[in-house]
Amino acid sequence: MKSNKLGVNTVCTHVGEIKDEQFKGAISPLYMSTSYAYENVDVKRYPRYFNTPNQEALGKKIAALEHCEAAMLFGSGMAAVSTTMLAFLQSGDHVVVQKTIYGGTYNFIVEEFPKYGIEFDFTDGFTEADFKAKIKSNTKVIYVETPSNPLMLITDLEMIGRIAKANDLVSMIDNTFASPINQNPSLFGIDIVIHSATKYMGGHSDICAGAVASSREHMDRIWNLGKNLGGSLSDYTVWLLERSIKTMGVRVKAQNRNAKKIAGWLNKHPLVERVYYPGLKDHLDHEIAKRQMNGYTGMLSFELIPTLNAQAFMQALVLIKQSMSLAGVESTILSPTKTSHALLSPEERERQGIADGLLRFSVGIEDKKDLIADLEQAFEAVTKKQMFPL
Ligand SMILES: *Cc1c(COP(=O)(O)O)cnc(C)c1O
Repeated sequence: MKSNKLGVNTVCTHVGEIKDEQFKGAISPLYMSTSYAYENVDVKRYPRYFNTPNQEALGKKIAALEHCEAAMLFGSGMAAVSTTMLAFLQSGDHVVVQKTIYGGTYNFIVEEFPKYGIEFDFTDGFTEADFKAKIKSNTKVIYVETPSNPLMLITDLEMIGRIAKANDLVSMIDNTFASPINQNPSLFGIDIVIHSATKYMGGHSDICAGAVASSREHMDRIWNLGKNLGGSLSDYTVWLLERSIKTMGVRVKAQNRNAKKIAGWLNKHPLVERVYYPGLKDHLDHEIAKRQMNGYTGMLSFELIPTLNAQAFMQALVLIKQSMSLAGVESTILSPTKTSHALLSPEERERQGIADGLLRFSVGIEDKKDLIADLEQAFEAVTKKQMFPL
């Protein structure tokens, strides 16, 4: 069966699976071997060469999900990001980076690139002019992330693909927030798609992994550096990740539905100043999101009215847990001011539109009525406490 003809849930469940010829078991066997016969074997199999049976099998599934020729698994999202960027950049090269990106990627660029003589510029915004303005004669790579954290701003992928082609740049995207269920950047001309598989691919807050999908040609280059840097993923985790991805379509679509309903509910709530969710018609980038996304994700942010204490609100939540990470089947929430953006000055946060009352909500698969009830009781508890402090 051609994998590009299959529906996404079938791809999640079956593509790449290893047949258990010996026992006819229902699932891919786990090959923990770090040593393989070299006689009569064309490929030298070794975990750090990213080519054990389980690594190859899951690579096929992820490549199919992202409509790419090849994919590789890494020990973390950052191993995927760092290996991919360094595979295409060397001393004297320049990279244009989207203004708002994952904090770990930002740190990697500003702390490490100067050591290797790699130049970089962050864009001032998200428009075509913002990206074009930063391209120089030595620019080799253009790097974006959409939807971005925490305001869920959307970068136009078709536009990025076009700019990259016109300027002979390799385009890369961190597609973590969307997941392959909601967005396939290769269909819009983006060359390399990166995921922190720790998030939606894993989906249960118990796996740390990364993935990259691209053409065979680009993947060969990433592989070459990858085997030297050594950021491969253990086969046991590869096998667990295969299991997780089987339900990714079902999970993510449930999260999309919950998030859309809750975003609409929050949007009408008198104690909420504004909601950032690309699925809402009044979101700044709704039209672009509609063009390039299959679903609007389970991620949203909302800002409480300034008189409401955001910390007290989060503490009053019962079902929805405070957590640094995201994309698990359980709903979690965090304050960017206190976590991801804590190191920025209050002025810089304000410039970026990150208010103290902003909360980032990773919506899970619980019943939406229970999530809404939890939010409502927290609103009530906090207003009561603020009106009648003990
Ligand atoms: C978590 C995350 C990463 C980094 O992934 P790790 O698995 O933690 O290394 C990169 N990009 C985005 C958007 C993320 O959310």
